[in-house]
Amino acid sequence: MSVYQIPFLLPFLYPNRIWKGPALEQKISLTFDDGPVLGTTDWVVEELAKRGMKATFFMVGDNVCKHPALAQTVAAAGHQIGNHTYHHLSGWKTAIQAYLEDVAACDVILANTLGEVPQFFRPPYGWMSSGQAKGLAAAKKIVMWNLLSYDFHSNLSSEKLIRVCTSRTAPGMIIVFHDQQKTKEQLKRILPCYLDFLIGEGYTTQLLEG
Ligand SMILES: [Zn+2]
Repeated sequence: MSVYQIPFLLPFLYPNRIWKGPALEQKISLTFDDGPVLGTTDWVVEELAKRGMKATFFMVGDNVCKHPALAQTVAAAGHQIGNHTYHHLSGWKTAIQAYLEDVAACDVILANTLGEVPQFFRPPYGWMSSGQAKGLAAAKKIVMWNLLSYDFHSNLSSEKLIRVCTSRTAPGMIIVFHDQQKTKEQLKRILPCYLDFLIGEGYTTQLLEG
């Protein structure tokens, strides 16, 4: 099984989560996790603007607290904002109540900064317990993905990652990138090529469905 795609059974095990978008047209959903981070998130917003593309940014509350103006820039550019917990918590290591409180704290900083509580949530590390998911089910749409860019692997060549992303791209996919400090060099090498590939293939972007 390839490490670049989710095991195909997962969407069947967790049917209440969003794993992909509508695939009727040549459209794809771009998502960016872990920002907002200065020098990375602002660069991503510019690259998207150059190409008229929109994306969803799953923000970490602590980063929103540090860079509120940058979070506002992302929202003002017409991108969707999602909750990615306040402290980038691991579902494995966190009790249900503490997890839910951290998600709520992220909601508060996002509402105070952007004037809106996000309806989308993505669990850090792509995993949360069923108890944590149940606790959020009424308030949030839980968004997963079906294509991982692996931009956090600095030891893999950019050429290989671009090849993997482009060869697996199909209508309706949700792809994950990371707009954070650790990934910024790899991201800056692969994202422009990937976005230009999408344009070349006639893709446009679609936001997540609320
Ligand atoms: Zn994350």
